[in-house]
Amino acid sequence: MTASQGHNNEVPGVYARLGVKPIINAQSWITALGGSLMAPEVMRAMQEASTAFVDLHELQGAAGKVLAQACGAEAGLVTGGAAASNVLMAAACMTGDDPSKIDRLPDSTGMKNELVLFDGHRNHYDSNYEIAGATIVPWGFAGSGKAYQLEEAINEKTCAMAWITAPFMHHPMSFAEAAKIAHSHGVPVIVDAAAEVPPAENLTRFIAEGADMVGYSGGKGIGGPQGTGLLVGRADLVDAAYQNHLNTRGTRAGVGRSAKASKEDIVGLVTALQIFNDTDHEAVWAGWRAGAVHIVDRLGGIEGLRVVLEDGDPNRQGPQAVIYFGSDWRGPGPDELRAALRAGDPAIHVGMGGYGDEINIVMTNVRSGEERIIADRLEEILSNQKIEKETK
Ligand SMILES: *Cc1c(COP(=O)(O)O)cnc(C)c1O
Repeated sequence: MTASQGHNNEVPGVYARLGVKPIINAQSWITALGGSLMAPEVMRAMQEASTAFVDLHELQGAAGKVLAQACGAEAGLVTGGAAASNVLMAAACMTGDDPSKIDRLPDSTGMKNELVLFDGHRNHYDSNYEIAGATIVPWGFAGSGKAYQLEEAINEKTCAMAWITAPFMHHPMSFAEAAKIAHSHGVPVIVDAAAEVPPAENLTRFIAEGADMVGYSGGKGIGGPQGTGLLVGRADLVDAAYQNHLNTRGTRAGVGRSAKASKEDIVGLVTALQIFNDTDHEAVWAGWRAGAVHIVDRLGGIEGLRVVLEDGDPNRQGPQAVIYFGSDWRGPGPDELRAALRAGDPAIHVGMGGYGDEINIVMTNVRSGEERIIADRLEEILSNQKIEKETK
């Protein structure tokens, strides 16, 4: 987020006309809260893209090279979001480049169609694989998974091993170890790393550690259009994913056709990725830290609450102010406090904690100046509560 995107009290006219009020997003790159904001340069690039017709296949080819280079992969493709990347990755692993199979999905009868997924990686988005026509075969149990359990889950019908990486996701072994086991059985490895960037290193990490394909959101930490995703990986598989998207060799629209990227989307994402690569991430991080510190400083010394800066926890997306509720706290509990923050004007959305019933205030989407509004509101709610209790 750039300084030019600080808080502005004016409601943008396009939202005002629809009667929709902007919110303060202290919950991270949540799709339902707007993903992220695009830099003005991204918007300008999209506008420019809308002034000419181009061959979309040629544009995807050129953009794919930029994505591939940024991720250390052979090939890349702009998709309609990380969820779309998941659909296309699963489809590609089932069909390869066979146009008759691509025409048939999501009916995967007769294809390798079992996708092995660690039980502890089951999540909201694993339906994406089933939409493509794959059947999920879980391995391991809850938080624990052993190499032999992964080996047992793999058979001649296995099309892929999927691996999910997300905040608070527990892993049974290192990604590289799991990828090695899958590869020893000839099974390709696909990764959902939607919200794992920044840190920027995660753009290359999974390919370097053995992933055959990886999907990321374009509209989360990378700051591209909210409706875009990246899909990068092995050239043959990315080509198969592309066929399941735009199907240039078969006869029917592919299973992933419903999540297209427009020429403006493609140009916007490429531009955002280039800006992301040129960003001084330490300076951005320092800005997030300063905002979190402001909130922590303002809320110190409230009896029963522990408000701390957490910085460097890989489960937390950047430095955050975290509110822990002690047993001696007499005020509103975490859910009540969240509801009170949402009920204000502007509505403030904060994180769901992660480790227990704490509240985490994520700074990645908090625009400069909003940290003061958040601290003011928390102070007001929490100290009113104190006064009310004292006068009872
Ligand atoms: C956000 C998210 C997605 C979906 O990403 P979109 O770009 O919104 O489609 C998929 N998987 C995980 C783990 C996510 O966090």
